[in-house]
Amino acid sequence: MEKLYEGKAKVLYPEGEEALRVYFKDEATAYNAQKRGLIPGKGVVNNKVSAALFRHLEAHGVRTHFLKELSDREMLVWRVEIIPLEVILRYRVAGSFAKRYGLPEGQALKTPLLEFSLKNDALGDPLICENAALALGIVDEETLSRVKDLTLRTGDLLRGFFAARGLELVDFKLEFGRKGGQVLLADELSPDTMRLWDVQTGERMDKDRFRRDLPGVEAAYQEVLRRVLEG
Ligand code: UDP
Repeated sequence: MEKLYEGKAKVLYPEGEEALRVYFKDEATAYNAQKRGLIPGKGVVNNKVSAALFRHLEAHGVRTHFLKELSDREMLVWRVEIIPLEVILRYRVAGSFAKRYGLPEGQALKTPLLEFSLKNDALGDPLICENAALALGIVDEETLSRVKDLTLRTGDLLRGFFAARGLELVDFKLEFGRKGGQVLLADELSPDTMRLWDVQTGERMDKDRFRRDLPGVEAAYQEVLRRVLEG
């Protein structure tokens, strides 16, 4: 079957005019693909975790591109026109934010912090402010406000979902797409795209284990899946 697009972690195949089949790979990259590796079983975890989270969000009124699970590693989604912004919501200081401001990781933020990066690998996904996104015509005021609103709602829902499973959602990245006049949550929701810290032990249960060469990468992904499915 001919590929429509192959990214770092997923392959997209056309399914008629309006849908796509997403295949989740075990390949992992970090630091703008300077670090590459394999996390056996990751594709299955990310497909199933994403599916469960998309379903949870849909059940609470957030419209997503998710249609259904097709297999262990594949889901069917609506074909959308991706808005080239990475929308990041942070609850604690971590990752690139800690580095940027010379802060230790873990400090709680006074309010959830929403940031945008321009989706552009060649430029290393640079931070972009709302005014620049508007001035460049990447989004209009209405779409921007919709994206911000959906991100904050998604954050509230996911924080609650994970808290009930002994995990703290520290930060996450979303991508949105347009379909007709609608803005839909797209891409994936997985330990590749969010930081999850075990509430009891503080252990990192996400891609930071791979980024930082910590042991037990596969086990952490499996444990997240177990908790997500156990409910
Ligand atoms: N993130 C992502 N894709 C990216 C950049 C970040 O999914 O290209 C996620 C990352 O996993 C984390 C959050 O967005 O949950 C914030 O990432 P940060 O800006 O701290 O960058 P990082 O330290 O991951 O490079």
